[in-house]
Amino acid sequence: MFEIVFLGTSASAPSVHRGLSSQVVIHDEFRFLIDCGEGTQRQILQSGLGFKRLNRVLITHGHLDHILGLAGLLSTFMRWETIDKLEIYGGQWALDRISDLIYGIVLRGAKPPMDLQLLQIKAGVIFDEDDFTITAFPVWHRGPDCFGFLFEEKTRRPFLPEKAEELALPPGPWRRELVNGKSITLPDGRIIQPEQVLGEERPGTRIAHVGDVGRTDELAPAVQDVDALIIEATYMHEEIDMADQFAHLTARQAAELAVAAGVKCLMLTHISRRYRERDVLAEAQAIFPNTIVVRDFDAFQVKRGECVKVEPVKISQNNKE
Ligand SMILES: [Zn+2]
Ligand SMILES: [Zn+2]
Repeated sequence: MFEIVFLGTSASAPSVHRGLSSQVVIHDEFRFLIDCGEGTQRQILQSGLGFKRLNRVLITHGHLDHILGLAGLLSTFMRWETIDKLEIYGGQWALDRISDLIYGIVLRGAKPPMDLQLLQIKAGVIFDEDDFTITAFPVWHRGPDCFGFLFEEKTRRPFLPEKAEELALPPGPWRRELVNGKSITLPDGRIIQPEQVLGEERPGTRIAHVGDVGRTDELAPAVQDVDALIIEATYMHEEIDMADQFAHLTARQAAELAVAAGVKCLMLTHISRRYRERDVLAEAQAIFPNTIVVRDFDAFQVKRGECVKVEPVKISQNNKE
């Protein structure tokens, strides 16, 4: 399962109801802040997520509405020192601008308040953990080095408690070993093979996040069959010329991509204050009914084939401050 909390859902400039781009994707103890528009730190507080373990930031691209919040966030960390390490992943162009912001404006010769790493990403796997990966894929927008991110749980075989009961498996650390494909020897000498307690292989949950983007033609393979696609919808179709000019999508284009790629649930963000939310929603739903126009502080749990809206309060307790 992945959880996602939207912190800022406005395009280009904040509105009364929407902050600038930012969201957190959570998987077990891992938290990834995707983009950090101005004002993100206050949204983090208001969401109840807090700053703990918020030590990995993925940047979609270097436009100011996606990165300016890093300056304030770092400035707060300089006072509170709540984290030991901060990793910021981005394309080279974004990192150059972030480096200017952090080293030229915020730090100005001072030492970073933590082990600060700016990590250049290229298309491919950028994060590989025991049970999930993150893959960056190129996205066409204004400026070079823009990326989308695909979060994928690895295929796994579920532990079957009824089988364990049949074998009278005593309580102990066995379960984890078996799930990881290792045979175990019990205190009574019996050897248990993973096959004895594991079910059929099950594909994991997959979600894709695409920031600002102006073309969808090469995106379908990258987001094929995902359980949730989070993508911008800055314009409505009546203004498709503007969308083209500024390399953004219309709600209809985002919905057409969802159909073409067979995604299960479409979440639209980067919403312009020039439209009413319900009009954006109606335009997309006419093509792809399972669409949500997300708002600040909306939170979802995405599991294989299902996407459930939850209160941010309900986000896994071990992920709270
Ligand atoms: Zn933007
Ligand atoms: Zn942009």
